[in-house]
Amino acid sequence: MSAPFEVRSVDVLIIGAGPAGLSAATRLRRLGVADVMVVERETIGGGIPRHCGHPPFGMREFGLILSGPAYARRLVERAVEAGVELQLGCTVVSIDYTGDLIVRCVTPRGPLSVMAKRVIVATGVREKPRAARLITGERPLGILNTGALQEYVYLQHLVPFRRPLIVGTELVSLSSLLTCRKIGATPVAMIEARNRPTVRRPSMILPRLLGVPVHYETTIADIKGRPRVEAVTLRHSDGVLEEVTCDGVLFTGSFKPEASLARSIGLAIDAGTGGPVIDQFARTSEPRIFAAGNILHPVDTAGWSWREGRQVGGFVAEDLDGKLPKADRSIRLVPGPGIRYVVPQRLVAGGPGLKQLQMRAIDEVSGTLVSSSRGITIRKQPLTSSPERRILAPLNGLCEADADVTIGLEDVVSSDAGNDQACV
Ligand SMILES: Cc1cc2nc3c(=O)[nH]c(=O)nc-3n(C[C@H](O)[C@H](O)[C@H](O)COP(=O)(O)OP(=O)(O)OC[C@H]3O[C@@H](n4cnc5c(N)ncnc54)[C@H](O)[C@@H]3O)c2cc1C
Repeated sequence: MSAPFEVRSVDVLIIGAGPAGLSAATRLRRLGVADVMVVERETIGGGIPRHCGHPPFGMREFGLILSGPAYARRLVERAVEAGVELQLGCTVVSIDYTGDLIVRCVTPRGPLSVMAKRVIVATGVREKPRAARLITGERPLGILNTGALQEYVYLQHLVPFRRPLIVGTELVSLSSLLTCRKIGATPVAMIEARNRPTVRRPSMILPRLLGVPVHYETTIADIKGRPRVEAVTLRHSDGVLEEVTCDGVLFTGSFKPEASLARSIGLAIDAGTGGPVIDQFARTSEPRIFAAGNILHPVDTAGWSWREGRQVGGFVAEDLDGKLPKADRSIRLVPGPGIRYVVPQRLVAGGPGLKQLQMRAIDEVSGTLVSSSRGITIRKQPLTSSPERRILAPLNGLCEADADVTIGLEDVVSSDAGNDQACV
């Protein structure tokens, strides 16, 4: 006999119990929205911080310095205390929005369908896996990304390797050095395809202190071993191949939004972020479906995603009260030279919504950020940044434009200054 088909009805359904989803849910309950449900495919709520076994989390949210798991627990407790219903082990597989909004989920108890007045998608990011990096070679045990390493180490107390090669020089790559240290693993090297680190240069003191050599302009030519990783062939900038003995390969960073659901239900997707296109109220191309957190901008901190979730919870509450401007007419915000993405991607007339634009530069830059519409400059601001750094610019002044706004870099004076100066 097939499992019974459960059908529910709520005011707001939130997909993903990470910092963004939980803060949106808590805010909605505190604003008096009656039925708020969060569905989460994992059996524990809290999102990525569940397995980040290191501080600092929670300063903005709780005024405390917490480890990731302690922070995740507090977020869940706060949401449940506020009256949020949490459905764990529950994966959303589709959303039908041709008529009523119907969210279809699978759970160990059987299928669940939820009719919701509004939905918030807060499904976060994931790291680019080996296959998507187009790396050839054998398929032995010991090839992971940081998320999987953290799950093994902090949640399952397993040691997946002792002498891994680390691919990447983002912040998460440095945090993986600390995770390796916790299990007594000694990375054989870190490699980076570019000619400089993705993090700011001073942070690269950490591998030096830990005695881990860093090779720039270096990629993987081959992975060997059976059943475990035994060696990796590196290709250096001069074309020289070098075989390095190791028992694992850790692919770090290169974050992509977890947007398969958003994509599969036909929401408009932004080529720059890989996440859904939103307006300044975080409404996607289906205005009853909102989005929040790192699905919108790979990648930001837990505190930032939490803050954004709260704001989006507020917008959804206003929308339920009929207070948001109509979403039918909008102008586009288009990334210009040197800019990888701009969020939000659309602006509707009437009302501020999110106060700031979020952007990322393609590379290290120092120049002038210029917003213009129909060839007329609206705003200029000096900018120094690097690819991983959040760039913020005020949204006011742009909402009045009556045609698409392009935001790009002019007067670029250097391509290597971003490592030294803050812009956020
Ligand atoms: C490996 C890794 C390490 C990181 N380390 C740090 C760090 O040390 N500090 C820091 O500040 N940030 C870190 N980050 C960034 C991290 O994305 C943010 O901290 C924060 O978790 C973003 O919150 P979020 O709510 O947007 O997404 P997430 O925390 O990713 O939460 C999204 C939730 O959605 C759930 N979900 C996805 N799809 C579905 C579905 N179809 N149905 C039901 N549930 C679904 C997921 O299971 C997940 O729990 C890291 C990210 C990664 C990938």
